[in-house]
Parts: sequence; C-alpha cells; structure tokens
Amino acid sequence: MFNQNGDRNPNWKGNNIKYQGLHNWVRNHKIKSKFCEYCKKNYSFDVANISGEYKRDISDYEWLCRSCHNLNDRRNKKKIVSSIMLYRQKKNKLYYKKNKIILSEKKKIYYIINRDKILLQQKKYESENKEILRLKNKRKCKIYYSKNRNMLLIKSKIYKSKNKEKLKIYYKLRYKQHIEYYKNYNKKYRLEHKDYFKKYYLKYKKKNGRAV
Ligand SMILES: [Zn+2]
Repeated sequence: MFNQNGDRNPNWKGNNIKYQGLHNWVRNHKIKSKFCEYCKKNYSFDVANISGEYKRDISDYEWLCRSCHNLNDRRNKKKIVSSIMLYRQKKNKLYYKKNKIILSEKKKIYYIINRDKILLQQKKYESENKEILRLKNKRKCKIYYSKNRNMLLIKSKIYKSKNKEKLKIYYKLRYKQHIEYYKNYNKKYRLEHKDYFKKYYLKYKKKNGRAV
C-alpha cells in the first residue's frame, strides 16, 4: 500500500530520494509506537534506519529513543563508509579492465623514466618497515604453504632426487657449522655463568670428596 502512495507523491524520487524526504515518508507511513522498539523503556522520538542502506521500505526502519538512535547511527555510518569503499573498488576495477593496455604501457614508461627514484623509495620503505614486512612475508608464506602443500612436497622430492650429491655436501657443511656454533655457545655460556659453575663444583666436591 505504502508503495502506491509513495509513487503518487510528486516529491517521491524513487530510490534516490533525499534523506529528509525519505525520513518524512517513513514517518508518515510507519505506525508510531509509544516506546522505543529497541530498549522498550524510553519514549520513542525518531525513526531510524536498520540496514544502513536507507531502503524504500518501512520494515527497514524502527522507532527509537534518542540514545538508541545515536548508537544506531554510529553503527550505520561505519556500514556506509564500507559500502562507499566497495563501490569505489568496483569502479576502479572496471576502469582498470577497460583501460588495461593503456595503463600497463603508461606504467612501464613511468617506471623506465623514474627507475632510480622508485628503487630508492623502495629501499627506504623496506629499511623503515623491516619488521612489518618480515611478518607479512611470514604470513604469506604460511598461507601459500598450507594451500599448496602437496604440490610443494612433490616438488621437494623431485629436487632432492635430482640433486643428491649437491645436498650431501650441503648437509655436511651445515652439520659442521652447527657443531661449531654450539661449541662456541657452550664456551660463552660457561664464561657467563662462571660463578654458578664454581659453586656447583665446590658443592659436588664436598659431597663426594673428589673432583668431577
Ligand atoms: Zn531506546
């Protein structure tokens, strides 16, 4: 019923009707409830939109008190911002699709002209955001690995069977490095905890009557 009424109204501009007009239209058509439909405590003052899309539909509105209405508006603002962002993203995507060749050529030319500048910028950004980039990369790797696990396992098997000799040498080297690292680490640890080791040694001596 309300749709017919709205269509006959000369102020009605379809779904693009201005905010105020829409509110008036809803106020005139939605049956007023005495109390806030949300908290059911305070007297209702305002008609408020529920979905944040301001549909031409009275079921998308409710009667709220002032405090509930304020809360609702804050929620809807967030929704509107995200919907605008989505709309812009869509538009950009479409624009890119239409002008793909021109844009990619433009990009190439820009890169050739400003190569040094771009590289410098990149280096600066990388050195300033090392930790963030490392974490991002880690996350990316994790996702990639979990998605392509089987493929990667097969690949690594093939690589191993092809490069047996190479890997043997590599593993030997790694093993040597490993052992050397731990030797040094142990030395360092002993030096750093000299007093503790001395105490331990003396205790042991007292108990057993001889050195370790
Ligand atoms: Zn309320």
